Amino acid sequence: MNYLIQNAVAVHSDEAPGARDIRIRDGRIAELGRDLTSTPEQPETVIDASGCVIWPGLVNTHHHLAQSIMKGVPAGLNQGLGEWLSSVPYRFWPKVTPELMYHAARLGLYELIRSGATTCADHHYLYHATTSPELEEAVWQAADELGIRLVLCRGSATETGSHEGMIEHRIEPETIEQVIDRLDATRRKHHQDGPDAMKKLVVAPTSLIHSSTPDGLKAQAQWAREHGLKMHSHLLEVEFDEIQAREKYGLSAIDYAESCDWLGPDVWYAHLVHSDPHAIERLAACGTGIAHCPTSNCRLGSGIAPVIDMQKAGVPVSLAVDGSASAESGSMLQELNLTWLIHRAVHGPDVTTLEQVLDWGSRGGAELLGLGDTGTLAVGKAADLVLYDIDQPRFAGVHSPLMAPLMCGEPVTVRDSFVQGRQIVKDGRVGDLDEAELTRQVRESVAELLADA
Ligand SMILES: [Zn+2]
Repeated sequence: MNYLIQNAVAVHSDEAPGARDIRIRDGRIAELGRDLTSTPEQPETVIDASGCVIWPGLVNTHHHLAQSIMKGVPAGLNQGLGEWLSSVPYRFWPKVTPELMYHAARLGLYELIRSGATTCADHHYLYHATTSPELEEAVWQAADELGIRLVLCRGSATETGSHEGMIEHRIEPETIEQVIDRLDATRRKHHQDGPDAMKKLVVAPTSLIHSSTPDGLKAQAQWAREHGLKMHSHLLEVEFDEIQAREKYGLSAIDYAESCDWLGPDVWYAHLVHSDPHAIERLAACGTGIAHCPTSNCRLGSGIAPVIDMQKAGVPVSLAVDGSASAESGSMLQELNLTWLIHRAVHGPDVTTLEQVLDWGSRGGAELLGLGDTGTLAVGKAADLVLYDIDQPRFAGVHSPLMAPLMCGEPVTVRDSFVQGRQIVKDGRVGDLDEAELTRQVRESVAELLADA
């Protein structure tokens, strides 16, 4: 599929800052410039981008798509992480069938796409001893149908020790052998290598401190590195991780991670809110990154991750939505907007720039996921890009239009979106998805979750 996108208000590209046009050839950006023209010898679909700004597609590095049908559960509305886990995700997890998972994944991915994302890393942790592989297949299928890049971070719990939610809901954990055998089956079936892969598998025990033993973590790290897979988990979302690491292992959480071979440039963690200077120093020294999820951290009262200090120290930073049970907007743009604002509230108005935040939300995420062909707009890169329609009253007064969506925040309108040169949003429509039907399916899924609850 070849395209010429013309007449954009502005294009976010370091390589071609004044560009207004983009030519796409065979899934890649072939040209960036002004006044590009079409010739009959090279047939291409011409798209008029008047009234739009063009950004690299946003890259979400941490989600839980299953939670898209668990928004705003009353019992968990005013709880912190520990109690909320028990009241919401662990309560409903055993009731998520492959069909419910499919509808939840479609909803979550649809929400990401309509906010400007072209890649989603889903931390999928609904695995226990008797889990059917169909549950995971539902996620792969939904992503494939909508055309978004999917990085499936395969969760696992081999311990229930401190997972009170798991004990309460009688979820039987997997053995480490089961985890690795099943990971390998998924790897063979779905994983693609390379910086422009559409599907990637990541080894991702659900919580570094609470869901595995040190030997289990080492075994997973070794297996991941043998197969060139990246590694991901939750860490230091709350102070409890630090307390548990010290009590159980006599080490700080970050030193425990290092002792289990869980630091390195192939590892990134969600949250890291409670990182002290030592943790930041070790993360930076090892090249380990963060998926910064400000909305979820605010919603659960977890705190604000020190990403300004992390950035200064050299920690790779990316942005993420987290699951919609604690980030109901399900929007990557909301995360960018909040990231831009929240650190200024604490540290002053010169600690974040719009360009820096957009870079975290695009290139930063792509690099951490091993998708270096995406995340920036430059000749030769994969054509993952998004057209925001700013030809609307609320954007018309903005003096710096290229960053208008980030500054003004939601609601935004993604008019068109491309992944690897394939158009996944056309004139504001996400693929062939029927919004009314999706709404009905999601309502039915919620009702099914609540049946006999
Ligand atoms: Zn999470």
